[in-house]
Amino acid sequence: MALAALLMIIEGSTLAFLSYALKPLFDRVFVGGEVGAVWLIGGFILSLFFIRAATSVASRALMTAVAQRTAAALQVDMLRHLLTLEGGFFQTHSPGKLIERVQGDTAAVQSVWTLLITGFGRDTVALISLAVVAVAIDPVWAAFAIVGTPLLILPAIVAQRYIRRKVQHLRQQAEQRATRLDEIFHGITAIKLNRIEGYQLGRFSQIIASIVRAETKSAASRAAIPALIDIVTGIGFFAVILFGGAQIASGERTVGDFMAFFSAMSLAFQPLRRLGDMAGQWQIALVSLRRIYGLFDREPVVRSRAAATPPSPADTGLRLDDVRLSYGDHEVLRGVSFTAEAGKTTALVGPSGAGKSTIFNLLTRLVDPQSGVIELGGQDILDFDLDRLRDQFSVVSQDASLFDETIRENILLGRTDIAEADLQRALQAAHVPEFAEALPLGLDTPAGPRGSSLSGGQRQRIAIARAVLRDAPILLLDEATSALDATSERLVQDALDRLSEGRTTLVIAHRLATVRNADKIVVLENGTVAEEGTHETLLARDGLYASLCRLQFSDEMQGRG
Ligand code: ADP
Repeated sequence: MALAALLMIIEGSTLAFLSYALKPLFDRVFVGGEVGAVWLIGGFILSLFFIRAATSVASRALMTAVAQRTAAALQVDMLRHLLTLEGGFFQTHSPGKLIERVQGDTAAVQSVWTLLITGFGRDTVALISLAVVAVAIDPVWAAFAIVGTPLLILPAIVAQRYIRRKVQHLRQQAEQRATRLDEIFHGITAIKLNRIEGYQLGRFSQIIASIVRAETKSAASRAAIPALIDIVTGIGFFAVILFGGAQIASGERTVGDFMAFFSAMSLAFQPLRRLGDMAGQWQIALVSLRRIYGLFDREPVVRSRAAATPPSPADTGLRLDDVRLSYGDHEVLRGVSFTAEAGKTTALVGPSGAGKSTIFNLLTRLVDPQSGVIELGGQDILDFDLDRLRDQFSVVSQDASLFDETIRENILLGRTDIAEADLQRALQAAHVPEFAEALPLGLDTPAGPRGSSLSGGQRQRIAIARAVLRDAPILLLDEATSALDATSERLVQDALDRLSEGRTTLVIAHRLATVRNADKIVVLENGTVAEEGTHETLLARDGLYASLCRLQFSDEMQGRG
């Protein structure tokens, strides 16, 4: 940047030398008749243009490199920071919004370096040096040249405010646009099936129309500042011609003086306009900078404690004690207490919305409770290093997040330390070969965006293969197998059974079969533990569990009947 600035300064100062060279050209050559000096002065002017050309190419190349690298670093830093933020943040900030911040706002800021260096390096230096030339020729003329300047101040301030407001609006609309597109493309099936293409298109068009309006208004107000400069410069020219013209006519000043002064003024005109335009551009960058810093100021809520160091827990039993969690005013867990013994299977059952998945999120610290203690191996989970804690868990759920990569990449998840034999064993355990072998490219078949080219059961088996490879001591299973056909269900169940052997397993159970074999069943209702025990003891109690069982049992009877 320093080098680019220096080159810009050289480039900027050539204009002043150019205007100054006009004085000897007029006075010595044209008026004075020194024909020999034409070579010297002409050569000087020519070399100024060569210097200008060389410095402008070099400084622009440097500036582009600076701008690109800062933008790249900013994007990487932003993503790094975003990845430390808790799950809750991403529920209030849609993907579209965040994509627009990372891409759109950094792009808007990217130009700011070029702007500053070009502006302050080249244009300001050009202006100052031209002003020096003007004052050197005639300080009084110079004073006349700037008589109109005070007219500029107030309108410029107003225009800047207006631009900032419009650009803020524009950035918000751009977020909306990205969000709409993201939701439309992700929800394409629902859009087609519900035939809401027109509705979605309408909403999108509205946002676009609003962007067009804001863009037009901001561009018009941006143009207002250079336009004001035009007017002020016009007034200056007028004043100098009136006053200076008379002096030259009376022979008080030379034509060379006037020409040099006039050309300095004319040469100042473009840099001045550019600086005026820069004031508007700066507002645009400022809005994006504020938004970017706003994001960086956002501290992660869930984080490792400073003193959190203990290594892996000695035993993997889990205990929740009076755990409470609310989302806003909505109390999701109202004092949940239970234990899950190491190496045993504990089933969580209860009506939908009872808080079962929330418990998984608490254990893995995707969210922290407002009060209560969660212990792993007798130690508060808050005392573990966050990464170390998450290493203890494998989570398998049906909405296994698959990436738009091959099946193999989706299972390996970037790990390169896995031997082919281990991979094969994991695949076998998860019954992956049963479907992968039938695919044209086998394991190298792409899974499609979000795994959309695979079936639910296939996705789940990939998730199980991931868990086998991960080999974590605690298994969290969201056993949503109801959507599977009998064969896949059996395969998935079998894979899950193998996986949970010898591990501390918590399973959100939807079907009786799993529950029956569990070492313990915890029945949740309305964010509290309604009852707990084994299948037999709970049936004998004839409480909520027994009624849930009866419900499912009669459903199954009807289904078969
Ligand atoms: P279950 O898994 O038992 O069906 P969940 O644990 O998913 O239930 O949800 C329990 C309750 O918490 C639900 O009423 C749900 O609306 C609410 N909830 C879950 N996550 C959030 C969230 N991020 N923000 C607000 N409410 C939430």
